[in-house]
Amino acid sequence: MNFDSLGLAEPIVRAVREQGYTQPTPIQAQAIPAVLLGGDLMAGAQTGTGKTAGFTLPMLHRLAAAGPKRDARGRVMIRALILTPTRELAAQVEESVRNYGKYLPLTSMVMFGGVGMQPQIDKLRKGVDILVATPGRLLDHHQHGTLDLSQVEIFILDEADRMLDMGFIHDIKKVLAIVPAKKQSLLFSATFSDDIKALAERLLNHPSLIEVARRNATADTIAQKVIPVGRERKKELLAYLIQEGRWNQVLVFTRMKHGANRLAEFLEKEGISAMAIHGNKSQGARTKALAEFKAGTLQVLVATDIAARGIDIDQLPHVVNFELPNVPEDYVHRIGRTGRAGAQGEAVSLVCVDEEQFLRDIEKLIKRAIPKEVVPGFEPPAGEKPEPIVLGRRMTIGVGAAKGRGGQGGRPGSGDARPRQGQPSSQPRAAAPRGAGRGPETGRRERGAAPSGRPPRTGR
Ligand code: AMP
Repeated sequence: MNFDSLGLAEPIVRAVREQGYTQPTPIQAQAIPAVLLGGDLMAGAQTGTGKTAGFTLPMLHRLAAAGPKRDARGRVMIRALILTPTRELAAQVEESVRNYGKYLPLTSMVMFGGVGMQPQIDKLRKGVDILVATPGRLLDHHQHGTLDLSQVEIFILDEADRMLDMGFIHDIKKVLAIVPAKKQSLLFSATFSDDIKALAERLLNHPSLIEVARRNATADTIAQKVIPVGRERKKELLAYLIQEGRWNQVLVFTRMKHGANRLAEFLEKEGISAMAIHGNKSQGARTKALAEFKAGTLQVLVATDIAARGIDIDQLPHVVNFELPNVPEDYVHRIGRTGRAGAQGEAVSLVCVDEEQFLRDIEKLIKRAIPKEVVPGFEPPAGEKPEPIVLGRRMTIGVGAAKGRGGQGGRPGSGDARPRQGQPSSQPRAAAPRGAGRGPETGRRERGAAPSGRPPRTGR
């Protein structure tokens, strides 16, 4: 199958060809014809499957075929609205819209928090066909009366599960009340919890259902490895691996914001160019770091899970888990950044004795043991005793958690680590405080943690 046979207009096929894509991915092969027909769609697909083009291409086709809608002053009105959970994903999706739509007379803009409203208002006044937005800022504009969504014909929720995880359900409901009832709606989600199903029921009308094979940790294109190492020597080991292996584009994950900063500073001292991105960084700093990393001028990007969500970097060769995530599904999501669209990738996890339970949880989820490889000179010290892991000031996990350091008091939201869901009660782990660990990733306001009592997320 090729793109010509999917029924897309020639200018779109030409733009796709220029991107170098020859064959539609499975999600594209299924979603494009379904969306072209005009019906609603519920698609199970995650980042890395080509889902963005899966909804963008048929959306562009339909908008171009129908022609613009104009207000009384002749300005183009918004006909397609794409909601994403994070600023980075919004920016990337809008970039895709521009790339794939470059030969069409359609305009688009991206809208998210953390930056001034006025430039967005100016752009809205000129009129756009397609708006890509995070929910918070979208609602801010609506409240200010600077946004008219009355002519929306196509509504797309991207990474709906992440949106719910990030506490956006109320905002989504508010947006649904603003957009016209009669429209084509598409919902993309990597997982289908009861909450997502409830949302789909509310939003979608007799949707086509598409589910592409989950990109799971057993993907052949990702070589996974665990390197056991002493707690105090992780930084040194990372610098060694980068220098010895001549790794020039490495995405490194830490659990916490301050850990990301400290690690980036250490690597810089070692002569390795590195920057950290997380929720406390200004949008300008995040955009700059990402742009330099993508361009290949920045060697190492250190990120927390939330900040990294939705980052799309083609054929990223190396992902390092400097610390294992406390949510096993995040491991799958993290390593999905490498070996994308058929490219080979390597995912290395530096694991100290404190993280052995995290490793067991991950291996249980991905249903396989990750090969271990000790790096000579960095062997874990014999007899090193596990210590509890502090995830923000109010959340402690692991050995002796009940009386571990940092177990009481403190300000919620002081870290970036994610509360776990579906915690087995037999493990000595402290309960996640409500509202813990979510930075204002969409630049609006602190969000609460995911609602309790939900089933754990599965496979991503
Ligand atoms: P997505 O899942 O939308 O984040 O896309 C993942 C990556 O796959 C992006 O880097 C796209 O540029 C790339 N991609 C999308 N469609 C194709 C295709 N048909 N062939 C090859 N790569 C693609």
